[in-house]
Amino acid sequence: MFCKNCGKDIDDSAVVCPNCGVATDNMAKNTTPAPAQKNSMALAGFILALLGFNLIALILSIVGLSNSKKPEYAGDGKGFAIAGIVIACIYIGLFIILGISCSAVGCAALGAAGAY
Ligand SMILES: [Zn+2]
Repeated sequence: MFCKNCGKDIDDSAVVCPNCGVATDNMAKNTTPAPAQKNSMALAGFILALLGFNLIALILSIVGLSNSKKPEYAGDGKGFAIAGIVIACIYIGLFIILGISCSAVGCAALGAAGAY
């Protein structure tokens, strides 16, 4: 690109002109980042997952994860959302495994007791 002050051909990634020291368009981009919103949905999902509210946590975390991909959030809360989904899935998986094994043990005990 060319310096808007002195017109010298300078590097496209330069933030200031090496010839005259005036800020380029890159400097303007770097100093005015998009205002990032806090992704409270992702954080809420993560906290609820820790507290054991797994289905609600899973839903909030998925919403939070999709929110974090929106430009206004600028990736905020992505880590919390992924952690919330993982924790909620582990809890739900444990409940399913425990539920199956408990009912299997229950059936065996009933069978042994001559209930069938
Ligand atoms: Zn210049």
